[in-house]
Amino acid sequence: MISMGSSSKHGEGYPPALKETLQLFTVDCPHDVADILQDGGISPNSINTIIYSHLHFDHVGDLTHFPAAELVVGGPAARIMEKSYPRYPDSPWQEFPRHQTVRFVHFDDDVVRFAPSRNVAPLGSFERGLDFYGDGSLYLLDAPGHFPGHLAALARVAPDTFVLLAADCCHNRLCYSPGERLISRENYHDLDVARETVDKVKVMHRLENVVVILAHEKERLDEMPLFPKTLNRWAAAETGKKRSR
Ligand SMILES: [Zn+2]
Repeated sequence: MISMGSSSKHGEGYPPALKETLQLFTVDCPHDVADILQDGGISPNSINTIIYSHLHFDHVGDLTHFPAAELVVGGPAARIMEKSYPRYPDSPWQEFPRHQTVRFVHFDDDVVRFAPSRNVAPLGSFERGLDFYGDGSLYLLDAPGHFPGHLAALARVAPDTFVLLAADCCHNRLCYSPGERLISRENYHDLDVARETVDKVKVMHRLENVVVILAHEKERLDEMPLFPKTLNRWAAAETGKKRSR
């Protein structure tokens, strides 16, 4: 499972330091991700891996629903979690549950310390990718700029069709398609690096066999099938449109 959305119902259960931030948003979340999985016939107990694209409140949730899941997080986020709530009462970052297993992905190493270890290699326009399962089905991509350790993921949904889950590389479709909108100055931890990452998303979008989905791409809600339906056929149709142009 990749990212959890605002899985604390109605925006409750976050560290107090997020109170002001949460007042800026209306968190309309009557069903958290565990509810949605269960309604779709998947037990949260059966989830064995959760990948956080990054640690912003609208992408992380209540890990206690997923006792069998290992958490995977971009390496640079490890330093942030050294000062998490409640040990640091003013921290906006909720500490992970005590017995949570966590793997931090460090792309700076040539070989990521996974078991079995995996080589880091360029993939498409991204300089650093990791073949997560070692079978070409899912790649984690180093997608810096928005947040320390921000990850994107490239999922193979057919032999030559991929979905790029670009998380918060940018927040509006117009930033990558057609790509004339600039990313805002406020939402990025390193604006220059984030712009380079958006350029990589633009290149991926131009590939015939890739469909880009941003976490906040509101148009996609009406365009694509949602869980428990799968994306595979839809993505194949989308790439088919690109190929026939
Ligand atoms: Zn974010």
